[in-house]
Amino acid sequence: MGIAKGRFTIDTHVHAQRAAIKWQERGLQPDWVALGKLRAESTPYDNSPRLLYDMERYNVDMCVLNPYLDPDIDVKLLKQYPDKFVGMYGGAYYSQKVRRGEVKWSIEGLCQDLDEQLSTGLYVAIGESMPGGRPNQDQNKLVDWEQRFADICQIMEVAKKHKVTVGWHTGGASGYAGGRRQLGSRAFGEGGNPLLAHDVAAAFPDVPLILTHGGIDGWWRERTWELCLEVAAAHPNVYLETGQWWTELYEKPLRDPNIGVERLIWGTDWGAAHPIQWWPGAYPSVYFDQNRKEGIPAHQVDIFGQSLRWLDRLDITQDDLNLILGGNAVRLFKLESKVPHTRFFKQFLK
Ligand SMILES: [Zn+2]
Repeated sequence: MGIAKGRFTIDTHVHAQRAAIKWQERGLQPDWVALGKLRAESTPYDNSPRLLYDMERYNVDMCVLNPYLDPDIDVKLLKQYPDKFVGMYGGAYYSQKVRRGEVKWSIEGLCQDLDEQLSTGLYVAIGESMPGGRPNQDQNKLVDWEQRFADICQIMEVAKKHKVTVGWHTGGASGYAGGRRQLGSRAFGEGGNPLLAHDVAAAFPDVPLILTHGGIDGWWRERTWELCLEVAAAHPNVYLETGQWWTELYEKPLRDPNIGVERLIWGTDWGAAHPIQWWPGAYPSVYFDQNRKEGIPAHQVDIFGQSLRWLDRLDITQDDLNLILGGNAVRLFKLESKVPHTRFFKQFLK
């Protein structure tokens, strides 16, 4: 088994910061129940030295930095490494103001913040999720889709103005507290139900919508992946992020004439990756998921390596592999000026 290599490789889903809970300093025993509660109080730090090492090791030329806790860390890195990193923005500065009580949340306020930040030229996309879940929403109440759709339409207008892509988060791990977000009424909200993206993709056919994780953000079940394929097959403006897909999951979308290689983009969630689970002799033999028995991983999970091994087993042409690993992202995020030469990716005279 080898490692897939591309001519110009872009990971479209990377987190360059990580959060330290500092269990020992707090005198706490690490456990996954407390992890869910302590995340908001954790201290984010710049994890780019490990990221740059892994990029070098696995021939990853560029990364799209997806936001995490502290937007200032990402801004610093985007300015420091303009040829290695481009950014995605999801309204973090506005959320900070809301949390500090400086402003009361409104969709207009959020959209103004998105507009201002996208105007800086630092960002190439809105993501990684659709921004703007209203704060303090009761988790036990059904999310009112009519209201949420109206909010999303305003966000999509900002994306349309700036000609950027928008992310829609799909899938989720099963092990720790995050898995519980998929239970109960949340299953019917946009995170658990990618079919709601049909409405948005149809209303804004000119705005590329990226289904973050393509239904697989950890765990072995394929239900959400299949729902994502349904949305992608129906709308030419819908793209699937593939980094946590095992080899077999690429096959149907690659063959489907209404999806195809042009709509798959590599994005792993480096930096936030779940630990790797192994089922020798079973299907899938390897997948990512949190594991309550093992507990919280302290190591940097090697998701570039794992994902590139899965890709290497695909029976496709190198030109098509180049599209998944970078060419499609260059087109979507308009990164032509970062690529050393033109004509790197499949194009035909018309
Ligand atoms: Zn992510």
